[in-house]
Amino acid sequence: MYLQNPVFIPGPTNLPEVLRKASDMPTIDHRSPLFGEILRPALAGVKKVVKSEAASIFVFPATGTGGWETAITNTLSPGDRVLVARYGMFSHRWIDMCKRHGLDVSVIETPWGSGAPVDRYEEMLTADKAHQIKAVLVTHNETATGVKSDIAAVRHALDSARHPAMLFVDGVSSIASMEFRMDDWGVDVAVTGSQKGFMLPAGLAITAFSPKALAALETAKLPRTFFDVRDMSKSYENNAYPYTPAVGLLNGLKVSTEMLLAEGLENVFARHNRIAAGIRAAVRAWGLELCASSEDLYSDTVSAIRTPDGFDATSVVTHAAKKYDVAFGVGLGEVAGKVFRIGHLGSLTDVMALSGIATAEMVMADLGLGIKLGSGVAAAQEYYRKNQVSGDRGAA
Ligand SMILES: *Cc1c(COP(=O)(O)O)cnc(C)c1O
Repeated sequence: MYLQNPVFIPGPTNLPEVLRKASDMPTIDHRSPLFGEILRPALAGVKKVVKSEAASIFVFPATGTGGWETAITNTLSPGDRVLVARYGMFSHRWIDMCKRHGLDVSVIETPWGSGAPVDRYEEMLTADKAHQIKAVLVTHNETATGVKSDIAAVRHALDSARHPAMLFVDGVSSIASMEFRMDDWGVDVAVTGSQKGFMLPAGLAITAFSPKALAALETAKLPRTFFDVRDMSKSYENNAYPYTPAVGLLNGLKVSTEMLLAEGLENVFARHNRIAAGIRAAVRAWGLELCASSEDLYSDTVSAIRTPDGFDATSVVTHAAKKYDVAFGVGLGEVAGKVFRIGHLGSLTDVMALSGIATAEMVMADLGLGIKLGSGVAAAQEYYRKNQVSGDRGAA
């Protein structure tokens, strides 16, 4: 195996050399002061990345899914009502988790390709005069469909309804790549993982709790042990974990946040937007459509591309892997076989994106999709030429 090509899956993302090295360190005693020199800046860095002054950051040896579980089990009790919309595989899985934990889940079924239905949220919150809804759950960037939702608008819906429910946001494929404003949006628990915007291997569930979410710890009765924020919080006071931390990954997280902040978050977001816009220009040149149903919903971290009816979109992914050693993402759930995905987040430049576009063209031409070689590449090249920011070379 010769692992030279970038991957174009929406996580895990490409590992910058500096982060691969930072995550691969000699064993240290995780109960020694040295560990605090890794933990403290890692937590402080995450706090800046989610744009919060008020939040407390808790990082578990887990993945984004563990972050979902951390959010709900620390703040809710069996039978508590939560409000959530289903519009893709990730929102679906979070709903499934809530049900398995015995929560009373009010699901707003939403077409895949749409985002969080803010009006419906507002209606249901307004109707809930008794304030039985304890939390509203939103997947910020639905990685299955390449759709971003408007979290500020969901906050506005809560405020308009004068509803005190907490707001939990899955930011696994948005945080550190797209605008995310924990405090401004009044997010109570934000969840992410190490293997997407933070450009690290999988292995960390990264969560941010608002003071309101922390207060809910006191009354929340869902069972929790490994993900208990109270234990984590107590241990953090001594720069330690309730168990063995993933020291190397935490060191990677420290360095990752340093890289992101050195590039400048606004520059990071602009880079993702530019790369994504080039990919979207290519998709248009191919005469194909995105799964996202309108422009305001386009994700800057992943594009789900519809293939013509009767064509198996998964074959794009299998063929690309087999013939060109390049990884794209398959369609998941309802859109399996209907879309293939180009992940464009993390450590990526315009030039790397062009290689993915060129590969997708070769694959689609091989599979008889009638794509003119170079058409998408040229469209993206034009976009990148016109929108270049000199010196902004990003985290590659
Ligand atoms: C990747 C992803 C997850 C799940 O993360 P794991 O790390 O695989 O557990 C959750 N939500 C979204 C939006 C994702 O993209």
